[in-house]
Amino acid sequence: MSMFCYQCQETARNQGCTVKGVCGKEAGTAALQDLLIYVTRGVAIVQRALRQKGKADDQVDHYIMDALFCTITNANFDDEALTDRIEKGFALKKDLLALAEKEGVQVPDMPEIALDIQKADYITHAASIGVLSESNEDIRSLKQLTVYGLKGMAAYAEHAANLGHEESSLYAFMEEALYQVSRTDIPVDELIALVLKTGEYGVQAMALLDKANTLAYGNPEITKVNIGVGKNPGILISGHDLKDMEELLEQTAGTGVDVYTHGEMLPANYYPAFKKYPHFIGNYGNAWWKQREEFEAFNGVILFTTNCIVPLAKDASYLDRMYTTGSSGYPGAKHIPAREEGGKKDFSELIEKAKTCQPPTEIEKGEIVGGFAHHQVLALADQVVEAVKTGAIKRFVVMAGCDGRHKSREYYTDYALALPKDNVILTAGCAKYRYNKLPLGDINGIPRVLDAGQCNDSYSLVVIALALQKAFGLDSVNDLPIFYNIAWYEQKAVIVLLALLSLGVKNIHLGPTLPAFLSPTVVNVLVEKFGIGPQPELDVA
Ligand code: SF4
Ligand code: SF4
Repeated sequence: MSMFCYQCQETARNQGCTVKGVCGKEAGTAALQDLLIYVTRGVAIVQRALRQKGKADDQVDHYIMDALFCTITNANFDDEALTDRIEKGFALKKDLLALAEKEGVQVPDMPEIALDIQKADYITHAASIGVLSESNEDIRSLKQLTVYGLKGMAAYAEHAANLGHEESSLYAFMEEALYQVSRTDIPVDELIALVLKTGEYGVQAMALLDKANTLAYGNPEITKVNIGVGKNPGILISGHDLKDMEELLEQTAGTGVDVYTHGEMLPANYYPAFKKYPHFIGNYGNAWWKQREEFEAFNGVILFTTNCIVPLAKDASYLDRMYTTGSSGYPGAKHIPAREEGGKKDFSELIEKAKTCQPPTEIEKGEIVGGFAHHQVLALADQVVEAVKTGAIKRFVVMAGCDGRHKSREYYTDYALALPKDNVILTAGCAKYRYNKLPLGDINGIPRVLDAGQCNDSYSLVVIALALQKAFGLDSVNDLPIFYNIAWYEQKAVIVLLALLSLGVKNIHLGPTLPAFLSPTVVNVLVEKFGIGPQPELDVA
């Protein structure tokens, strides 16, 4: 076994990737990511001790957040960038330990603190500190469930921080949780409580990002999004980071270069602040996993602001027009550096490159409709409540979550088609691409697919559910006519799931497969406490 990773839904045989990731991650990259998480735990343990004495440092919070984020599935394949972060982590830990000594702060005596190795030994050392170094299957499962939740939380927190919204309690929790998963004496019941706590902080992170996005760009509103192409060369932006979106739109204005969203950036089209740019043409293509053919056809520049990067085919033509920024990275792709304090990112190189490219090849035409985040749906609340009361809407089906490349995900298209015509789909995340272009119609003018936005906007779906609970005077959100059939892929979906559980949502069906990192005991806990189940048969619809 040259590596072990089981953090995503596409893990080999639904057990674990042991030679090379199904995602394309090489064993060496997996080792560096394992080491980075280990080093980050060490940094977090010292920062936690310093925080308890009022000596926490903001820069360290940002380091921890970025380190967690960049190990998310498909975010960073660049060994050099990962190595730099590990070196930085060792240096940071030394500085923090020196500060702790100076301030008389007691730091727990744990192996994560003692570790200090040379760069040449990074990869060989990683084998001894990876996922399988914890031998108890249930403890390992709960620890990894927590860490994967933290990775998702870090991604959302970083996007909020980029818009100037931070909460130190989130950082304090990340450190506390990284300390707790580093304990060798932590019992199962404490770990279960930690997992649930992670979900509570997940809600906080998503609420923070919702606030950051809507304060900066307005509330998403019902929008018809063009899926065709214009005549100019373009830049295709993917990921979640709306600050990058804003600065790219500003800097491309009047240059003759158009901007399109791809995959998870589609919901940027729903924000009022971005609609003023005539060169923001619409959305090109589909979910992340279709990027190889779609990026070829796009012809222009590609900008990744987050995962999900699919490693390029050997004969790919677009590496020299592919850029990463933030926590994403790919060997050979240019990386746009972080903005300086109070400054902006510089996208001029991308824009100049785009000017030399051909316009996109049309792969579709028409429009899709979205923008049903909580503010918009609550504006339609009377209409929605009336439709439920008259029986025009019998049930809401939450089909939020992820898309992926496996054929088994065709199930979600079939499921959407099989739903009775009086069912409305509530969605957020990439899963929508399995059914958002189907002619599913509407109910009294309410579209049968209500797209709230990105996966973090699953928070919006909860706000909607809580408002409906109130409108119908019900005791519990679980008494609403809502059915959950959620698709997951990577760790942002893990924090969304934990957040839903912490809010008391029960009977969630999760597919296409249950996570490989859940041990049978942990699955039993989730079934008993929350009624979690596998994806339903098609005829259940
Ligand atoms: S991220 Fe997923 S596909 Fe990639 S190595 Fe890990 S488990 Fe395998
Ligand atoms: S919906 Fe899923 S696959 Fe898409 S960005 Fe969110 S977590 Fe990743």
